Amino acid sequence: MVARVIAIDGPAASGKSSAASHLALRLGIPYVSTGAMYRAVAWMASRRGVGTGNPVSEATLSPVLNALKMEYSRRPDGSFALCVDGAFPDSELRGGEISALASQVSALPCVREFLSGLQRAMAGSNWIVMEGRDIGTVVFPDAAVKIFLTASPLERARRRLAQEGGGDLETVAREIAERDRRDVTREISPLIAAPDAVMVDSTGLSVEETDAKIYDIVSRHSMDYRVSYGDTDQMGVVYYANYLEIFERGRTEMLRSAGITYRELEAMGAFLPVAEVNCHYRGSAVYDDLLNVRTRITGARGARLIISGEILRGDTVLVTSEITLCCTDARHKARRLPAELLAACRIYIHEVEA
Ligand code: C5P
Repeated sequence: MVARVIAIDGPAASGKSSAASHLALRLGIPYVSTGAMYRAVAWMASRRGVGTGNPVSEATLSPVLNALKMEYSRRPDGSFALCVDGAFPDSELRGGEISALASQVSALPCVREFLSGLQRAMAGSNWIVMEGRDIGTVVFPDAAVKIFLTASPLERARRRLAQEGGGDLETVAREIAERDRRDVTREISPLIAAPDAVMVDSTGLSVEETDAKIYDIVSRHSMDYRVSYGDTDQMGVVYYANYLEIFERGRTEMLRSAGITYRELEAMGAFLPVAEVNCHYRGSAVYDDLLNVRTRITGARGARLIISGEILRGDTVLVTSEITLCCTDARHKARRLPAELLAACRIYIHEVEA
């Protein structure tokens, strides 16, 4: 079973927070910054003198964790934010000292276990965007979507300076490199990309360009497909008719990655037969070609679900299609799309018809 989690991992100041919060806003789903949770632990620990008088250790952190109440809840203005012991810390968590201490406390197993447990408890039947270092590798290895966002160290230092309104570029770049080193080399949950993560390098990209790139990756289901003998005719060529079967697979995979199987749909009393197919055929593939099948939902209203897709070989689009499904009950009468289906597919719904 996949977790309905969009994991965005990456090093310090790679732009994860703005990318993750903008994506969540666009998709209308909650956003969780796990870095803020590590900072909150550091903040509470520093109040007890950890890092100054007291050492950073399991012994000094355990009492902090035992007393800590942390959750994401609504602020008075309606937005979701991290609430620590009844308060919404913000600038308190961003200072240089807290950043350095967060990186140190995050290397302790007791801290990681405590926060990973809280993070896992935040996932459920609704989608969330969760941003951090180890979300796609350790916390949610089964996340439906994984993105690893990077940028060059110099670019990250420049961004940090712009954010904080001044300072010395070299010093900040050094601090960032030191934090990277600690995050990458620590024994538990080191900062690495999950093997199935999509890499996004935001060096030289504006915030809007990065947002658009990430939205495009998240909102479109992508599946690689190797052409087999079964897909080809006697000449070893894939034509229009067989592309349709490949699309069907892409569609099923998209639903599966949203955590929905046809059997579950049936249990909801919903069937999704094909009502209409439109295909634009532009070229053929041959045996053993590696194709990329991309699908997204471009209409979800009443009983109708429209799935648009394209099949590419490299950058060449071989065929585009639009399949309209009409949701029916067991007696073949049209019925509204189940709310659970719409909630499950939410990230793939690109445009709901007016
Ligand atoms: O992302 P942010 O810079 O706010 O994270 C603060 C620190 O918390 C990081 O330097 C890292 O050491 C730690 N962290 C972590 N695992 C996460 C998120 C943050 O170890 N999932």
